[in-house]
Amino acid sequence: MTDGAIPVIKDHIMVKEGLNKSSFFVIIILYEGDDGMYVKVLIETRVKSNNMTFTYHVSKDACNNIIGKRVLVPFSNRIVEGFVLDYEEKPDDIDVKGVLKVIDEEPVLNTELINLGKFMSERYLCSLIYTYQAMLPKALKANHKTSAKVKTKTYVKLNENISHDGVKTKAQLEIIKFLTNNKSVLKSEIKSRSSLKKLIEKNIVIEFNKEVYREVSGTVDLKTITLTKKQQEVSNKIKQALNNALVYLLYGVTGSGKTEVYIDVVKEVLKQGKEAIILVPEISLTPQITARFKGIFGNDIAILHSSLSDGERYDEFRRINRGEVKLVIGARSAIFAPLKNIGIIIIDEEHSESYKQENNPRYNTLDIAVKRSLTHKCPVILASATPTIESFARAKKGYYEYLELDKRVNDKPLPKVKIVDMKKEIRKGNKLFSSELIESINDRLNKKEQVMLLLNRRGYANYLTCPSCGYVFKCPNCDITLTYHKTSGMMRCHYCGYAEVKKDVCPSCKEKIREVGSGTQMIEEEVKKMFSSAKVIRMDADTTSKKGSHFKIINDFNDRKYDILVGTQMIAKGLNFPLVTLVGVINADQGLNIPNFRSSERTFSLLDQAIGRSGRADRKGEAIIQTFNPEHYSIVCASNHDYKGFFAKEMFIRKKLNYPPYCFITLIKISSKDFDYGINEAKKVSLYLRKELSDKTRILGPSMASVLRVNKNFNFQVILKYKKDEKLYLTLNNLLKIYEGNSKIKIELDFNPINL
Ligand code: ADP
Ligand code: ZN
Repeated sequence: MTDGAIPVIKDHIMVKEGLNKSSFFVIIILYEGDDGMYVKVLIETRVKSNNMTFTYHVSKDACNNIIGKRVLVPFSNRIVEGFVLDYEEKPDDIDVKGVLKVIDEEPVLNTELINLGKFMSERYLCSLIYTYQAMLPKALKANHKTSAKVKTKTYVKLNENISHDGVKTKAQLEIIKFLTNNKSVLKSEIKSRSSLKKLIEKNIVIEFNKEVYREVSGTVDLKTITLTKKQQEVSNKIKQALNNALVYLLYGVTGSGKTEVYIDVVKEVLKQGKEAIILVPEISLTPQITARFKGIFGNDIAILHSSLSDGERYDEFRRINRGEVKLVIGARSAIFAPLKNIGIIIIDEEHSESYKQENNPRYNTLDIAVKRSLTHKCPVILASATPTIESFARAKKGYYEYLELDKRVNDKPLPKVKIVDMKKEIRKGNKLFSSELIESINDRLNKKEQVMLLLNRRGYANYLTCPSCGYVFKCPNCDITLTYHKTSGMMRCHYCGYAEVKKDVCPSCKEKIREVGSGTQMIEEEVKKMFSSAKVIRMDADTTSKKGSHFKIINDFNDRKYDILVGTQMIAKGLNFPLVTLVGVINADQGLNIPNFRSSERTFSLLDQAIGRSGRADRKGEAIIQTFNPEHYSIVCASNHDYKGFFAKEMFIRKKLNYPPYCFITLIKISSKDFDYGINEAKKVSLYLRKELSDKTRILGPSMASVLRVNKNFNFQVILKYKKDEKLYLTLNNLLKIYEGNSKIKIELDFNPINL
């Protein structure tokens, strides 16, 4: 506010849901004569698809560098947080309200990210504000209860204006000498507390608070590795074209040393004064890969994973935002790291489904990576031993540059794989473990080697049923059976989290209940019974929910505290245990039975990755796959390490049935609490799309979603298959508008869905 401005009370509002919950009045003041500025503020409104910004006034002293900061503004009887997106011309409407408070000292969104949000909002037809919420750590999202704050520590230093000639005691003199040499130090570092207190009282020493970052713990791996000729070739190809926005696909078999290639390329990028983003699936963010990068790049790294506390995440974000970090390693959302001069983006295990966000905004990390690479003129590297069918097809067509590492480092052999037909084993009376698997486990235990057992289902039993009347326990909110978790004694819904205590008898005929199917808990229990000398540990979503537990299991297994690791797909990817020489897949068919056009691809990829965990160091590896479908091409190809063979067969099927990469798919989800209303509206949606879209677009449905009822909502779907449809975006946008105010129906769009 300029001096001499005259405040004029223009308006006041009663705040109902203020920041500290109690009601209070806010007086909105406009300063006549204040030559501040006007800004566009984006806030969350009830109308979700509304991307409109609202104009507010900011006083002169606050408007400097305000774009990208969060502000508090009055909005229809409430005070809300919003993002300042741009400056605005002085509007004709003189009743413009003022920004009440600027929350951030530094902008949380830079211009690139503001534009990236607009791109996402158009690409996925989602509300703009959600795109920004997705980019920011929890503590910086608008309208979230901000728990993380800047952390400060107390420091002490000498007061240069006060003479310390009068000090006589030895301890005090020592402190003064120490502070003379060290300028300022952490208060806690000075051990003689009482002497320090006296010096502070005499004002000879001053206390002050200084911002510090929370330290993210982790180990450092300092080994030096010389690249093999193959690795060097691949690395050189990438390094030769670092200033181009090209997409590379690096197909490298498990254990081919992709990580070392990343390191070599990133070194060059940093040498050129640029920065790098390396994305890994959440589950591979193991202490192993991060330790390796820390060993090479030291403190220039920020590591973003889900077990960071809100505070740690907030600090890592600010370190990046301030340009104190050169390399960001993280899961999906690290693609939004606010680096200013990106030189490369690497997406490791690019086939991982964790790169697709499954709630609003339903973005695909690859789209964002490509968009940022165009802005920064830098390459994107997609790498995997089992690339998605779409990625490999694009590389074959020449849309992506293709790179290959087809052998393990130093020609180490890939594991020998045995397929076991469980139909025969069942006849022999072996329910969970085949004779081959039991024999091999015993062999490894004798040799003091380690074993990994994979079953992609957590819990104890799949479901509980009555052998006499067939009653099954189902979730009251969802159309899905409850999974029995033995350790907690509960039956749980894996969709909505509903849980109830396990019942022993059938509620309808009072017969004793039977447990059907097996989960990782049951495998763990059986393994412990069968191999009583072995030490067994389990890793799945249930044993890793506590912060740090994931790392502890990996470290303990790595330190040989356990002989056998039982787990879900979590154990299949990215891990490197030198002593593991046997991988057993308990039931390879789990994924095949799920109706999804990607089920073969998923099965192949999971098996190939799991097999790849075996024999990674000096000792030879083996894998045993138990299945009821020993001839299925995904299982046969995986056992032969034959990605290209699998690709050819799968492409043939995709072409026949017209699935990606031969077309694009967009899923329209329609849900309602009322079944009849929902199905009726779903029919209308389908009719509308048939009328509006190109006749080359295939419109399937409406049909019921694979799980009809989730959380008391009935789910229907319409599926669009198309190569190109110019009217797609306009039509879908209009569809959203039609249902905008309708609270009885929810319409969601999913472009390139992973679950159909
Ligand atoms: P990938 O990610 O391709 O499955 P990794 O990068 O994990 O493979 O490498 C597999 C193993 O080979 C690791 O233990 C790694 O340290 C080792 N390795 C990689 N490159 C070399 C090399 N040039 N010389 C020796 N060992 C290597
Ligand atoms: Zn449920």
